[in-house]
Amino acid sequence: MKQRNISHIILSILLVAAASLAAQAVELSGTAAQGGMLWGKVAPGATVSLDGAPVKVGPGGNFVIGFGRDAGARATLSVQHKDGATEVQDIAVRKRHFDIERVDGLPPKTVTPPPEWRERRAKETGMVRDARSVATDQLDWLAGFVRPAEGRFSGFYGSQRILNGVPRSPHYGLDIAGPVGRPIVAPAGGIVRLAVPDFLLEGGIVIIDHGFGVTSTLFHMNSVDVEKGQVVKQGEQIGTIGKTGRASGPHVDWRVNWGNVRLDPILLIEPEPMKGPF
Ligand SMILES: [Zn+2]
Repeated sequence: MKQRNISHIILSILLVAAASLAAQAVELSGTAAQGGMLWGKVAPGATVSLDGAPVKVGPGGNFVIGFGRDAGARATLSVQHKDGATEVQDIAVRKRHFDIERVDGLPPKTVTPPPEWRERRAKETGMVRDARSVATDQLDWLAGFVRPAEGRFSGFYGSQRILNGVPRSPHYGLDIAGPVGRPIVAPAGGIVRLAVPDFLLEGGIVIIDHGFGVTSTLFHMNSVDVEKGQVVKQGEQIGTIGKTGRASGPHVDWRVNWGNVRLDPILLIEPEPMKGPF
């Protein structure tokens, strides 16, 4: 908590410094940390880039950026105003500690997939990639997020995983445990880009496009209650908790992406995201 406050203060100082140099400050809110997402706003007509890469800006000047699990300590946000003036802001990205998690009792086939799964698996990962590669104009991400299900957090973003004793790549989801059949709701509104009941590792899976490249992926569902292309509101039921795919017990695995950058869902719901401007 202390560390979080310090980075908050540093960011505030940087923003004040930047604001004193330019007529128009950039408004930022959210969590400037590894896995965090920031909501931003600039004057309409301005363009924005993060570490040199262009960032989508809406007609009202809204934009969203995010930081991956292994993001460096600093990021540079550049804003080019309509009148040609350029504003550069340094963002301090808080470093986090990630635990090691052991998960046992998984179906062995899902930990070491048999060769005959390869073709189907390639198709499934392609479908996930396609569903996440959209950057539509919806502003559903702007209203923030709610937890997709009631229940205990049973697995965390960024943790190094050891599955049935085999070391694996980090886990990028927030796992919420609950009984089979408990409702899962949309964490934010959007358009359903993928809805399939039986992926090999994810089981029942839904991907919701919240706009501007921000997507939620939810899986291990017992039932998938929406269809591809369907528009959902925040809090609307999209399925139920299950233990389908590579799951040792009933839970929902919730992931949030900003394009290819994997964000930590927990920072969107708990602790309360910092509300800006800082
Ligand atoms: Zn998980």
